[in-house]
Amino acid sequence: MENDTIPSTVSAETPASPSDSPPTLVVADPSLVLLVGPAGSGKSTLAARLFAPDEILSSDALRAVVSGDPADQGASRAAFAMLHRETSRRLQAGLLTVIDATNVRAEHRRPLVRRSHDANVPMAAIVLDLAADVVLRRNRARERVVHVDVVRRQLSWLRGTIDDGQLVREGVDPVVILESTAAIDALTIDRRGPAV
Ligand code: GDP
Ligand code: MG
Repeated sequence: MENDTIPSTVSAETPASPSDSPPTLVVADPSLVLLVGPAGSGKSTLAARLFAPDEILSSDALRAVVSGDPADQGASRAAFAMLHRETSRRLQAGLLTVIDATNVRAEHRRPLVRRSHDANVPMAAIVLDLAADVVLRRNRARERVVHVDVVRRQLSWLRGTIDDGQLVREGVDPVVILESTAAIDALTIDRRGPAV
């Protein structure tokens, strides 16, 4: 049994309100949607539920394209180069694009922020802010286990990102922060196309 609590979200516009449920994220279409969370937080599972497969650019999938192995960190540079290039191409074509990568460090988000600005496409973020024990348990349960020290480092970067309000400062809006497995399960997306 996971540590489920009442869905609780905050966003750039809406203050934390634990009684709000179910959480709905309104995203402009097109947008650049960042998933933000450590390995094991459930990003890929959530992306598969909310978005079409062709809308999702996954760092693991691109590592596999580059080297045949989604865990090959030596393939990261080439994989992220592909991810950034494909992000630009999609945004310039007016296609909503979801980034399935940890995105917990500002320096890793910066190339994505720049590409969204260049394409004049807004950014949104879905932050998976689960308790460390839930994340570590899920990480242990998944096919490709990431070293516990790496996940702990990602958890601490995530804390800094959230506590300093960095995403909003980077121009990401809306931001939804999901603090429980129930909130993650309940999230729905409301797409808003350009006004006609
Ligand atoms: P990512 O590393 O952030 O992409 O996380 P994944 O989507 O790969 O999920 C990590 C592990 O948690 C996998 O074993 C999933 O099956 C499991 N998981 C993901 N979402 C859920 C969920 O909503 N409920 C439960 N019980 N497990 C989940
Ligand atoms: Mg994943």
